[in-house]
Amino acid sequence: MATIIDGKKIAAEVRAELKEKTEKMVAETKRRPALAVILVGEDPASQVYVRNKAKACEEIGIASEVVTLAADITQEMLEFIIKSYAARVDIDGILVQMPLPKGLDGEKALACIPAEKDVDAFHPENVGHIMRGDYRFLPCTPAGVMELLHRYGISPAGKKCVVIGRSDIVGKPMAMMLLHENGTVEICHSKTPNLAEETRTADILVAAVGRPKFVTADMVKEGAVVIDVGINRDENGKLCGDVDFENVEPKASFITPVPGGVGPMTVAMLMQNTFTAAENNMSTNRG
Ligand code: NDP
Repeated sequence: MATIIDGKKIAAEVRAELKEKTEKMVAETKRRPALAVILVGEDPASQVYVRNKAKACEEIGIASEVVTLAADITQEMLEFIIKSYAARVDIDGILVQMPLPKGLDGEKALACIPAEKDVDAFHPENVGHIMRGDYRFLPCTPAGVMELLHRYGISPAGKKCVVIGRSDIVGKPMAMMLLHENGTVEICHSKTPNLAEETRTADILVAAVGRPKFVTADMVKEGAVVIDVGINRDENGKLCGDVDFENVEPKASFITPVPGGVGPMTVAMLMQNTFTAAENNMSTNRG
């Protein structure tokens, strides 16, 4: 029987700690951290994500401005709006909710966010910091995974860590963060031959694939720590991860559920980044 890693509880702890720090910051500086969230179009999933981010801001005491833009906005106008937020000294962090509607260039839009306000850590400068391990902002989802490991007393040091997935937002930064904490890291992807042979060597297995119940029990070593980043729908439309939880759980030592594992941590780490951005902004601009 595995210990179930309770991401909902840990995320609530992180938010409570940030609330306390934010109250202290407001008392000392008379200024609240502020996040601008830019939502383009009416994608229901994006609307839910944006609502959750605004709700977390409210709970912690971070000011949030949600900017809702029509799906048919031009690229030029979108970039103009992002840049107008970038220029505001009272805005500490900016995020553009991805994916953007068809016809808009996400890369170009993101390039309008200056690195010091890039709370999603997508800017090439911040990606460079992730490579070097001298983080300005932690990429939210992998940072959430690391926070879960830390708070459950699991150290990657000296362990074999296998990450399935090599996306820029999850797989690659996840591997880097495990490496910086002295894990021996392997990244697998869709071109990896004999995937199960690789995953069976993992002491810590992170699945960031985007396929329901992709990681089956035969792919997991007895006693492994299994972290499920995936958010998918199963054949009945029920939310599920990349891991076949029911069959993998008895083999694992620790496992994250979906929902209630990594998901809530991503928003908590975004709040952490916004707080960090505010600290940096205030020390630079005394804004
Ligand atoms: P991407 O689609 O960008 O990347 C998926 C990765 O999985 C790719 O590297 C791909 O390999 C690999 N892959 C796909 N099929 C296979 C296969 N058969 N065998 C081995 N590897 C495979 O997804 P993301 O990284 O953005 O997201 C992954 C999952 O995490 C999704 O379910 C997403 O919803 C979820 N997610 C959850 C978050 C949270 O807050 N919990 C935040 C972000 C994402 P290749 O590169 O070769 O194509």
